[in-house]
Amino acid sequence: MKIKRIAVEEAFVTEEIAREWKKVLSGKCVEPGFRMMGSSILGEGPVAEKVHSRLIDVGVGRIAQMDADGIDMAVLSITSPGVQVFDGVTATRLAENANDVLSAAISAYPARLAGLAAIAPQNPEGAAKELERAIGTLGMKGYLINSHTMGEYLDDAKFRPIFEAADALDVPLYLHPREPAPSMVAPFLDYGLYFAGWGFAVETATHALRLIMSGLFDRFTKLKIVLGHMGEGLPFWLQRIDNRYLLQVKIGAVRKLPRLPSEYFQDHFFITTSGVMSAPALQLSIDVLGEEKIMFAADYPYESVEDGVKFMNEVNITDAQRRKIFSDNAIRIFALG
Ligand code: MN
Repeated sequence: MKIKRIAVEEAFVTEEIAREWKKVLSGKCVEPGFRMMGSSILGEGPVAEKVHSRLIDVGVGRIAQMDADGIDMAVLSITSPGVQVFDGVTATRLAENANDVLSAAISAYPARLAGLAAIAPQNPEGAAKELERAIGTLGMKGYLINSHTMGEYLDDAKFRPIFEAADALDVPLYLHPREPAPSMVAPFLDYGLYFAGWGFAVETATHALRLIMSGLFDRFTKLKIVLGHMGEGLPFWLQRIDNRYLLQVKIGAVRKLPRLPSEYFQDHFFITTSGVMSAPALQLSIDVLGEEKIMFAADYPYESVEDGVKFMNEVNITDAQRRKIFSDNAIRIFALG
């Protein structure tokens, strides 16, 4: 029987957001990491233009490309850094607009597309309201935040309304990467290290560990977090994180939590394969987390979907595991009816 392929970290953008990015980038106070990113996401030339037109297209062209790549369903979300570089009012308005655009696209292709809501963390109460609308009225399957918002992380108590809403709605947060926060970006600015090959993972894994160490999962016991890029490296590190956490507790650097960091990770986190086509990395993730926690993602239009599909088609795992990673886990975790 043919295995259905669902890809869960697939990017789009609206014209309005792209226009506002340009305004921010032409201003004086631009986050250093975003200034560097600006050249790749909004640059000129055939490559940047092709990426841009693919991001904008949530209609016929997108579906045709999914057909060509053998993708049955794509879960779409706003591309990094989304609305998180704007003032709260602009960000809130553009997130709502992006959700409306995405909702219309899904209505046109309900069997092929699903969506994760965009929200503006700058306005936590407004973000919680928009999350309720996006899930309840528009039928989104979760929400996506592109790591830090102007240098702030979601363990800050001010963001609690967002998690209160998510906990009540029981929908997962896709914690997607962006370039490192202004407070730590300096050594990443050389050699392109701020970019997706390294800086994104350091930034996002650090964000995930802040959520764990802050005790967020003791307060909100149903929260589900999805990390891309094979868990941003964290499955590899869990044993050592536990080991040194115990020492961190002893020296008073962190409050003792009811459980070990790895136990929170096991209970609350899921990972996707986006952009990682390494059999040893996949095998390690299966060994550490189990095959129920891993979902396929292609990271269109930034990665080669063809290569991602080929990797998952051919990698040496059982067909039962392949089926879970390609579709069954996504159907369960994102409640894709
Ligand atoms: Mn991505």
